[in-house]
Amino acid sequence: MRIGVFGGSFDPIHLGHLILAENCREQSKLDQVLFMPCALSPHKLAGAHGTDRQRLEMLDLAIGGHRDFVRSDLEIKRGGISYTVDTLRELESQQPGNEWFFLMGADSLKSFATWREPEEILKLARPIVVGRPGSGPVDPGLLEPLSSSAYVETLRELSVESPLIDISSTKIRQRVADEQSIRFLVPRSIEQYIVTQKMYQVA
Ligand code: ATP
Repeated sequence: MRIGVFGGSFDPIHLGHLILAENCREQSKLDQVLFMPCALSPHKLAGAHGTDRQRLEMLDLAIGGHRDFVRSDLEIKRGGISYTVDTLRELESQQPGNEWFFLMGADSLKSFATWREPEEILKLARPIVVGRPGSGPVDPGLLEPLSSSAYVETLRELSVESPLIDISSTKIRQRVADEQSIRFLVPRSIEQYIVTQKMYQVA
């Protein structure tokens, strides 16, 4: 199977995540997108706003019913700081014989060289990158110092066309704290969940 691993805080999951995942699934012909909420993000050590349980429940609500979207609790169960390289190694040993990809927004690509063992990540899986407002054009050439140019060339073929969606979890948490509407930024079920769980009342 061709499996795309999509890591993030998902605090909360929003339409930017879902549109990214669906476009990657379709255009890169993925059999499955594996949503992978992190325990602690190496990029956001200040910590999460929603609990692990709440982030998992929101993911289930948002992707439930999509045949090829699956949620994993591997990083949350492992605990500690979630490094993509550890996750990909674990997935490969648990489910050998698959072709692995990992999905990310252009902001993540820009910082990719600072991730733990980026060269190793590129040996385990191929990145699929989607543009994000404010991050400039997606440039696989950013990976050239980390991998062979032949490999980077194959990444150019993986480029995905997706509209730029100006939504972030930060913006959603801020809007909830400011008592502004988040309708149409997240699925309806997530909007309702945030209200009933009284989440993000302080940004
Ligand atoms: P926060 O605002 O809390 O930093 P976020 O909206 O960036 O959160 P994450 O869960 O941290 O969401 O993102 C997970 C992945 O999804 C990252 O690779 C990020 O680049 C990507 N992503 C999130 N939102 C978008 C978007 N609107 N367009 C493109 N990529 C996105």
